[in-house]
Amino acid sequence: MHNQLILRAPLSGVVYPLERVPDPVFAQKLTGDGLAIDPVDATLRAPCAGEVVHIHPASHALTLRAGSVEVLMHIGIDTVMLKGAGFTPRVRAGDKVEAGAALIEFDIDKLATTAKSLLTAVIISNGDAASIVRRASGNVKASDDVLLRLSLVDGAAKSEIAREGAVVTSPAILLPNKTGLHVRPAAVLANVAKSFKSEVTVKKGNRSANARSVTSLMALEVLGGDKIVLVAKGPDAKEAIDKLSHLVAAGLGDKGHPAAPAPATIGISPITQPAPRPRSDDPSLLLGVAASSGLAVGQTYQLRRAEIMVEEKGGSVHCEQDRLASAIARALGELEALRASLHAKVDPAKAAIFAAHMELLDDPDFLEIANSAIAKGKSAAFAWKKATDLHAERLAALRNELLAQRANDVRDVGQRVLLHLTGITQPPPAYPERSVLIAEDLTASDAAAMEPGTVVGFATLRGGATSHVAILARSLGIPAVAGIEPRALEIPNGTPVILDGAKGILRLSPKPAEIARITECQTRLAAQREQDMAHALEPAITRDGHRVSVFANIEGLKQAQQVDSLGGEGVGLLRSEFLFMGRASAPSEDEQAQCYATILKSVGPERPVVIRTLDVGGDKPLPYLPIPHEDNPFLGERGIRMGLDRPEVLRTQLRAILRASSAGKVALMFPMIATLQELRDAKAMLAEEAKALGIEPIMCGIMVELPAVPMMMDAFSHEADFFSIGTNDLTQYTLGMDRGHPKLAPKVDALNPAVLRMIARTIDGGHSHRRLVGICGGVAGDPQAVPILVGLGVDELSVSLPAIPTVKAQIRRVSLRSCRELAQRALQCWTVEEVRALEPKYGD
Ligand code: PEP
Ligand code: MG
Repeated sequence: MHNQLILRAPLSGVVYPLERVPDPVFAQKLTGDGLAIDPVDATLRAPCAGEVVHIHPASHALTLRAGSVEVLMHIGIDTVMLKGAGFTPRVRAGDKVEAGAALIEFDIDKLATTAKSLLTAVIISNGDAASIVRRASGNVKASDDVLLRLSLVDGAAKSEIAREGAVVTSPAILLPNKTGLHVRPAAVLANVAKSFKSEVTVKKGNRSANARSVTSLMALEVLGGDKIVLVAKGPDAKEAIDKLSHLVAAGLGDKGHPAAPAPATIGISPITQPAPRPRSDDPSLLLGVAASSGLAVGQTYQLRRAEIMVEEKGGSVHCEQDRLASAIARALGELEALRASLHAKVDPAKAAIFAAHMELLDDPDFLEIANSAIAKGKSAAFAWKKATDLHAERLAALRNELLAQRANDVRDVGQRVLLHLTGITQPPPAYPERSVLIAEDLTASDAAAMEPGTVVGFATLRGGATSHVAILARSLGIPAVAGIEPRALEIPNGTPVILDGAKGILRLSPKPAEIARITECQTRLAAQREQDMAHALEPAITRDGHRVSVFANIEGLKQAQQVDSLGGEGVGLLRSEFLFMGRASAPSEDEQAQCYATILKSVGPERPVVIRTLDVGGDKPLPYLPIPHEDNPFLGERGIRMGLDRPEVLRTQLRAILRASSAGKVALMFPMIATLQELRDAKAMLAEEAKALGIEPIMCGIMVELPAVPMMMDAFSHEADFFSIGTNDLTQYTLGMDRGHPKLAPKVDALNPAVLRMIARTIDGGHSHRRLVGICGGVAGDPQAVPILVGLGVDELSVSLPAIPTVKAQIRRVSLRSCRELAQRALQCWTVEEVRALEPKYGD
């Protein structure tokens, strides 16, 4: 049985649909359905008789209960910021009121000048209790005109909806993340929320956010230890709540740690207002906070960014929407490429910064605001700029410094799209040699574009050690100071400086003796490097005549062209992912064949090139090869598993490699092999494709990345032609520690004796079947590891291009005999610290 409830207008004014409210929380009906009024009077009145169940401490919002229906009235937008100024409540929570009773009076003139909008939302906040059968339009007069006519849902019908799982609410969940719901956990939550059909809302107190929107989640300002409630509405509401509650309670992959290790000198507490910036009385010394340690000696270069000017008026709505979509698609492509290249250069956790940027570009809040501006005749560029500015400002205003710093990411990603929209091309920055950049602020994209050597350090007025630009600077080894005194912006270009990233200081025109001391040390290292370079083309033969091959890990043609000049004796790992990332569809067989052939030719006919088949999944998703949501992507469909599951992708790649094989000395390698059956299936495909093409089979090896392989070397040695140990993954899977986990990073060390024993087992197992065993994981270029790995008997070390001359020189300085001794001692160690404390012997 249905009853009706009539809600009269609580204010006089013009009625608008909720979609017109410039706040996505209302516009997307996250808090419920209803209408908005642009008020012409200044007293909010009760739309019906009822009980005041809640009044916000800032007195700008109130909830009235009438029977089973709850009506939320929210005066203006962002008026919570006024902290009660201009509002006078006339009732208290618990008061029973008649229809038309004055609830809140407000200073309409003050609000008109200070609030973002005066639109007042009138919302049925428990939508399962009633449905709206009629809505007013045009002008309404307070207490006279009917605003909404509701049909009440009786108890039986309500429980029917509940049985269907229409609305499911979680219990209160304590957020374990010390640094709150910052961008990365928010991105995880948004990503998983998107995999459900139901709408999911995150509630903190009486504020709520769309769980699919990273910015909306961040703006909710959930701090570590805060309680939140999740509400899902839709066909899979129960599954959504079960899964998401579990995820939130488990820390959304960011369990209770700050985003970056903050040096002790920084003194940033996670939740407080920024500490007052230090100031120096010495005119030649500027103070800031440590952001990335290391000493830089160079000359200042002031980096100023001109604001991008945009046309306000747009063309047709359709055309502007298309322009926005295509600019976003291009920005996404760039970000994916950046993420992929950083994945190889620094560790994956840092590359994830750009994955979070990609998530921001898929944010419904952004798009909602931008599209609604386009609908009002604005240009895509104007609309986009407005959306990003708005979000950046909101974040910047948050009390939590960590979240406030994410405003920088919003601006960064916003700028990237804006450049495409305005057609402005920015040539790669041409900084003078040994520049110490000084800027108001820098972005993660700026840091990713810095060439170490050209940019030797940087100081910014804004930011802190937890900003993404600082995190990247640390992984790229670029010293940096954040929060520097504002007078830094007045330092003339070309001023000699020493930047001490550990102490957080910038010293102007330092004494020559000081510069001399630092440069002497840096020169010694550079001279060593130069000497190594001069001998780069010589083989790596130990003092007692044992030769080790030193190969390169590469990701494309540009790197292939440097293999020869840097002394690479081959390519031990061509990560073929580079060809698949940053694009909307997979490369064709022809495109792949041509690309592999060009690489083989440029490396040269005498040098082997090992092409690894596509290794995606886990932390490397591809938009056109979507993998259904997995609880543990690193234990899911990645590497060869993905290739076997989508044979058309693997077969196309195998055909392309076979067709290119005549262009050089190619070998093929399968990633993430765990079982013999996987290897057999993959090899069968290779044999079939080779036969169909009438091409001779090629050498076929496997990556050793899972402990299953070292344990089964006798079996694998019968079926694989060679082995290449991927210590990055082998370490993560041996120790059960995510290789990209910022907190665990120091422990995910391939010199851990457990991993060393895996390596030793692989080498011994392979050699007893006369199989070559190489190492292509990061440890192969670690100076402390090189003599140990040589002593374990490794045949080939495949390292990043810049490491080749150094690794070769290091091998020439040792003897196999001393390396073997060292390796034996390492294998007997019980802890990684003991291994790292071992001293190799040079020159015997
Ligand atoms: C490895 O796991 O060590 C490896 C070289 O592969 P990737 O880093 O590409 O996963
Ligand atoms: Mg790997």
